[in-house]
Amino acid sequence: MDRVGADSLGLENLVIVGSGPAGYTAAIYAARANLRPVVITGFQDGGIPGGQLMTTTHVENFPGFPDGILGPELMDRLKAQAVRWGTRLVEADAERIDLSQRPFRIEADGQTIQAQAVILATGASANRLGLPSEARFWNAGISACAICDGATPQFRQEELAVVGGGDSACEEAVYLTKYGSRVHLIVRSDRLRASKAMADRVLANPAIQVHWNRQVRDCSGGDWLEAIELVDPNGDPDGGASEQLPVRGLFYAIGHTPNTRLVRDQLRVDAKGYVITEPGRPDTSIEGVYAAGDVADAEWRQGITAAGSGCQAALAAERWLTHHGLAVTVSQDPVDPATVGEVQRTAVSDETNFDPQALWQKGSFATTATSPCWWCTPPPPAAPATCSSRSSSGCWRS
Ligand code: NDP
Repeated sequence: MDRVGADSLGLENLVIVGSGPAGYTAAIYAARANLRPVVITGFQDGGIPGGQLMTTTHVENFPGFPDGILGPELMDRLKAQAVRWGTRLVEADAERIDLSQRPFRIEADGQTIQAQAVILATGASANRLGLPSEARFWNAGISACAICDGATPQFRQEELAVVGGGDSACEEAVYLTKYGSRVHLIVRSDRLRASKAMADRVLANPAIQVHWNRQVRDCSGGDWLEAIELVDPNGDPDGGASEQLPVRGLFYAIGHTPNTRLVRDQLRVDAKGYVITEPGRPDTSIEGVYAAGDVADAEWRQGITAAGSGCQAALAAERWLTHHGLAVTVSQDPVDPATVGEVQRTAVSDETNFDPQALWQKGSFATTATSPCWWCTPPPPAAPATCSSRSSSGCWRS
């Protein structure tokens, strides 16, 4: 793998910040254009490197994988493809991005990297309720994506719940009626924020029961979620009367937060912090800076749409760099790089190599009763009790 420390980088053609489907697809296209792009993969800020797909299990809607593929495996493959064509990886968080001067300056790994063009592909994090028992049931009944996880066998013909009152919540509630025996939509007010058409569809669906003015206070169960506790959001948050709703699935649809902390004061963002790009294009309000994937997409938020926009961003960056005579291209040598062969997997933690001090781990062994974790079914027999690392998004340390 072509990993570099930031100190070995100088003035770069193109730096891509973020390593989800948008970032790696942009890297594949830019690398094949001989731009020798640098990807700052991220490390813990905003989640695990590889983005949200690293926190899912089966991805069954990414074209080209008729039997589906595990999210982390898909990301390992995208990464290998990007590296095969000459992408260099800085496996660290971008700590500062300065778009006020040219070349742009990005601090990562304790160094400053200069870039003629930048692609922002830092994604968005699904908002969570932060329930006391949320970590325990994450991926064991709780999910932030019904479209991704709804078909999981444990949800079939079971009672399921969706929290939220927007278009996502309504869409997900309708979607889940294909799998669950009944879907409960938990709305914290007395109205749906969703579009009229979407709301009407929900209200007309006999398989969906709307619980108005209800908030989820906590959840419970054994190895898998069994019930949620509902309270009146306007009542006493601690002592108010509550009701237990038996459900096997709890789906959050309470919005996303775009990972734009480092740039939102420098370029145009919308009220929620999403980067504003030109309609149908990846161009941001600063020439030479492009955005791809969920960081600029509050609506579609799919792996394949992110990948598509990463391709657009790379092509746009390449054209801009060429037009301004800024690109220093390096021809591939050999022209056809060696095939990847067996894709190097992100290391999995097990009994022999588990390091409780490590910042993040992959694999079920890293699961603890108090830590959120992907890949954690079935739960590990003897999870270490000393893991204390945790990201703000709560899901990278598995
Ligand atoms: P929204 O921000 O529109 O809605 C979030 C919902 O979650 C709101 O109902 C909000 O309640 C609720 N909520 C927020 N925080 C909490 C909390 N802590 N506890 C309980 N409920 C909470 O997000 P969406 O993801 O639904 O939509 C984002 C954008 O994508 C929108 O523009 C939407 O139109 C679009 N979209 C369009 C679709 C389509 O057209 N097919 C499908 C999906 C999304 P409250 O209303 O009280 O604030």
